[in-house]
Amino acid sequence: MEERSLVVVKPDGVVRGLAGKIISRFEEVGLKIVAVKLLKVSKSLAERHYPGDREAWLRGMGEKTLENYKKFRVDAIKLLGTNDTHEIGKMIQKWLVDYIVSGPVLAFVVEGPHAVELVRKICGNTLPLLSSPGTIRGDYAFDSSYLANTGKRAIKNLVHSSGSIEEADYEIPLWFGKDELQEYQRVEEKAMR
Ligand code: GDP
Ligand code: MG
Repeated sequence: MEERSLVVVKPDGVVRGLAGKIISRFEEVGLKIVAVKLLKVSKSLAERHYPGDREAWLRGMGEKTLENYKKFRVDAIKLLGTNDTHEIGKMIQKWLVDYIVSGPVLAFVVEGPHAVELVRKICGNTLPLLSSPGTIRGDYAFDSSYLANTGKRAIKNLVHSSGSIEEADYEIPLWFGKDELQEYQRVEEKAMR
C-alpha cells in the first residue's frame, strides 16, 4: 500500500509564488515529503520525462487533441497542418518540453498509502477548466485545451504528478538519485492509520 509519487511544480507555479502552498497540500493530507529540489530542467531530462519516442504516448496525446478540436470545431489541418495523431503527438511533446524547461521547477517525491491516487486527487483534472475547486489546479488556474492548443503551447496547469505506480517507478529515478530520498517517521502516522 505504501507508494511514492513524483510531483513537479511547473515553471508557472514557481514564478507565481505557489510552490510553498502546493507542497503544503500534500503535507496537510498526511503524505510524507521524502525528497525536494529546485532545478532548471535540462532538455535531455525533459525529453525522457515526456517520452517522444514512445509511440503509444505520442498517439494518445494526438488522439486527445483531435477529440478536443472536434468538440470546439477547430480544423486540425488548418491550425497544425496535419491530422495525423503521431505528428500531433510530436508537436505537443515539443510544447511540453518547451514549457518544463522554460524556468525553474520544484520537484519532490511524496510517500504514503495510496500516494499515487491521492496525489492525482489533490492536483485535480489535467484541464484547470474542469478541475474541481479545492484541488490545486481548480483553485489556482483556469487554462483549457482550447486556449493552449490554439496558442500552440502546453496547458498551464501548475503541477505534474505521476499518473500511475508504473509511471512513478519510471519517473522518480529520472529526477532523484537513491541517496536523495530520505526515510523518517511523521508524528501523524500512528494517529492516522
Ligand atoms: P497530467 O498527467 O494530468 O499532467 O496530463 P497528461 O499526462 O495527459 O499530459 C501532460 C501535460 O501535457 C499536461 O499536464 C498538460 O500540461 C499538457 N497537455 C495535456 N493535454 C494537452 C492538450 O490536449 N493540449 C495541450 N496543449 N497540452 C496538453
Ligand atoms: Mg501525465
